[in-house]
Amino acid sequence: MIMECKVNKKCGGCQLLDMSYEEQLQYKQRRLEALLSRFCKVEKIIGMDNPYHYRNKVQSAFFYDYKRKKNASGVFQSGSGKIIQNDSCLLENRTADRIVKTVRELLDSFKLRAYDERKDVGFLRHTLVRVGFSTGEIMVVLVTAKPAFPSKNNFIKALIKAHPEITTVIQNVNPDGIPLTLSSRNITLYGRGYIEDTLCGMKFRISPDSFYQVNPVQCERLYNKAMDFANLTGNETVFDAYCGTGTIGLIASKSAKQVLGVELNKSAVKDAVSNAKANGAENIYFLCGDAGEIIEDMAKEGEKFDVTFLDPPRAGSTARFLNSLIKIKPEKIVYVSCNPETLARDLEYLTDKRYKATKIQGVDMFPHTKHIETVVQLSKR
Ligand code: SAH
Repeated sequence: MIMECKVNKKCGGCQLLDMSYEEQLQYKQRRLEALLSRFCKVEKIIGMDNPYHYRNKVQSAFFYDYKRKKNASGVFQSGSGKIIQNDSCLLENRTADRIVKTVRELLDSFKLRAYDERKDVGFLRHTLVRVGFSTGEIMVVLVTAKPAFPSKNNFIKALIKAHPEITTVIQNVNPDGIPLTLSSRNITLYGRGYIEDTLCGMKFRISPDSFYQVNPVQCERLYNKAMDFANLTGNETVFDAYCGTGTIGLIASKSAKQVLGVELNKSAVKDAVSNAKANGAENIYFLCGDAGEIIEDMAKEGEKFDVTFLDPPRAGSTARFLNSLIKIKPEKIVYVSCNPETLARDLEYLTDKRYKATKIQGVDMFPHTKHIETVVQLSKR
C-alpha cells in the first residue's frame, strides 16, 4: 500500500514515499549490503509495524496570509525555505498536528497574527510540539519574536481547554530570524516546563531544546540491539562516546560496573547529568569535550575500557578517535551510525587493525525518508 501525501513533492521530506513500505525496507537493505557486506553478513533490517505518525517532535512555521486575512502554518520546503501549508503529515504525531491547527485557529479568533519579519508586526514565529510516547506528556512551545504576548492567559486557557492532554506550555522568545530555532529564553506559561519519557526502562527529561531521538519506538529497538551486541554482564567498564544526553550509557549502566560518557555539547551534558540523577544511576559520569581529544589522553595514560559505544554524527568518527580507540583495546566496540557511508569508511579503518565486524544490523528509524540507522558489533581479532 502506498499512502498519499498532498504536499510530498513540494515538501521534500519523504524521499521514498513513492515506494510501498516493504519496498523501502528492501531498498535500504540493499544499500546496507552494498556498503557493508564485505565486513560481515548484514542482518535483515528491523522495520516498523506501523510506519506512520512516528515523529514525537513536530515543528511548524507560521505566517500571515494577507489575501485570505488568516494565519497559516506548515513545513519548510527542504532547500528553499519556503513554507508549504499543510495540516497533517504522515510522519508526525497526530495529536501534535491537531494542536498546531488549534493554535492557528486560536490566533485568528483572538485576532492575533503570526510574525511578519518585513513589517515587524505580529508575534508568533513557529511552534514546537513534543510528545512523550510512553508517558503521554505533551509540551507546546510557542516561539515568539518579542516577549509581549497579547491575551496570554486567555489564549493558554483556551488551548488547554481544547487539548487537556497538553501538560506544559512554554513561550520561547527568539528575536533571531533563523527559521525553526529556539533561543535560550524560555518562559513557562503552564505546567512544569519540560516533559518526561521512558526508554528501555529509564526516565528521560525533555526540555524545549534537548536532543532526543524522534522515533522512540524504533529507538528502543535500536538501543536494545546495541545492548545485545555489548554483551554486558555487570562487571564491565564502559565508554559511551558522542553520548548526547546520555541515553545509551545510562541504559548500559544498569548492567555495567562503571560508565563514562563523553559529549561536546554543554547543554546535552547538563541533561545527561540530570538524567543520571533522575534514574538514581551512581556508576556513570560525564565529560564535556571533543571525544577524539579525550580518548587520546586516556589512551596515553594507559586507561582501559571493556566495552566502547560510539554514536557519532553523520560525518562519522575521526582518525584521531579511532586510532586511540584501538589502543584502549576494548573487548567489544558497538558502533551506532546514522550514515552508512561514513560507517563503511570507519569500519575499513577499524577492521584493518585489530578488530573484525561480527554483527551488522540496520534499524529503520526514519520510514519514508532515505535515512538509515545501523548498529555494528566489532570484536577483537
Ligand atoms: N548517543 C546519543 C546522541 C548521538 S548524536 C543518542 O543516541 O541520543 C551525536 C552526538 O555527538 C551529538 O550529541 C553531538 O553533539 C555529539 N558530538 C559531535 N561531535 C562531537 C565530538 N567531536 N566529540 C564529542 N561529541 C560530539
